[in-house]
Amino acid sequence: MSGMGESGFDGFMDTYRRTGLVFESGEGAQLTAVDGRSYLDFASGIGVSSLGHGHPRLAAALGAQAARLIHVSNYYNTPVAMAAARELCAATGFDAVFFGNSGAEANEGGIKLARKHGSSKSPDRTTIVTLVNSFHGRTLAALTATGQEKFHKHFGPFPAGFAYVPADDLAALDAAIDGKTAGLIIEPIQGEGGVYPLSVAYMKRAETLCRERGALLICDEVQCGMGRTGAVLASTAAGIRPDVVLVAKGLGGGVPIGAVLARGEAATVLGKGDHGSTFGGNPLATAAARVVLSELAREGFLESVARVGELIMDGIRSWKHPLVREVRGRGLMIGAVITAKPDRVKELCAEEGLLVLTAGDDVIRLLPPLILTESQAMKGLGFLKKALDRAFAES
Ligand SMILES: *Cc1c(COP(=O)(O)O)cnc(C)c1O
Repeated sequence: MSGMGESGFDGFMDTYRRTGLVFESGEGAQLTAVDGRSYLDFASGIGVSSLGHGHPRLAAALGAQAARLIHVSNYYNTPVAMAAARELCAATGFDAVFFGNSGAEANEGGIKLARKHGSSKSPDRTTIVTLVNSFHGRTLAALTATGQEKFHKHFGPFPAGFAYVPADDLAALDAAIDGKTAGLIIEPIQGEGGVYPLSVAYMKRAETLCRERGALLICDEVQCGMGRTGAVLASTAAGIRPDVVLVAKGLGGGVPIGAVLARGEAATVLGKGDHGSTFGGNPLATAAARVVLSELAREGFLESVARVGELIMDGIRSWKHPLVREVRGRGLMIGAVITAKPDRVKELCAEEGLLVLTAGDDVIRLLPPLILTESQAMKGLGFLKKALDRAFAES
């Protein structure tokens, strides 16, 4: 592989299982490594580079904004941040937004909002309920909210006031949401947990239970939001109206930005001094978000995400491949449950020229840029098929 630092000290803390690939540039759904080899990108970071690489409008907007103004503190407003806030609320149907810099921070903001809302009604209404196999980020409260033990190891003690229920289990949810629940956080499609879409019936019941019992319904759409599933928000497409939605990953097309969106009463919970972020909503990041929002609004853009996603899912299913047990997801958020080691298949995909991700213990996860064309989808499918065939031959 073309990387440096696979063996020797390269100055980074050793927190990532890196592949050894070193990328220098990209164009559309294509990435080029320092050795000149190019790869079709079915990962887009981790569902971040929603407009692909080297997007001309995004690059131009960032260049122009950088020349005009990169930063002022949140004691001041900027036209670009104001426009982004207005456009994000309009695109999602929410009333107010708080901008941060990442998905974990969006979750932290959602947790704080729910705690203030709950405790103002009753002092012990502070519990945050989340799902087993969820992923909400690496900061301590978001990590505590994450319902996967493997991420918790080494990092306790954890903040109190979190409870976990298995996904899609109505009885467990009914038992967990009570007068002490400040909020329920769900990912409409669990991402890191294995590309697992919650059933619509479950999400609707979760909404009803939260409403009846005074808890806030929070959807973590950091991965499945911002057009990823062929809808601006997966929760809206499922027909539910959460009080709070958290977005990040794809929102800035690669530029770090996250957001807490709230509607109705929830939109007025956080007041002066309650929350803040030095970098949150800075002119550069919000300029990027504006470009992403305007691309999502282009005629046929979201329809294309849905169509190309179906094409990929149908394609994989049509192979009836001996290693593939199930294909699930929506739009360009796709998981293939396989019986081979996902890391090995990912490695073989890279050898073929395709970048993919894994999720959970047994899932190959595809999160291509939302601009992926049908012919790129077909080309990627060809690489994936070859990789699976090679993995099967090894087994
Ligand atoms: C990635 C992710 C996060 C964390 O986002 P960071 O930007 O890495 O902090 C939170 N929730 C979900 C659903 C995610 O996929």
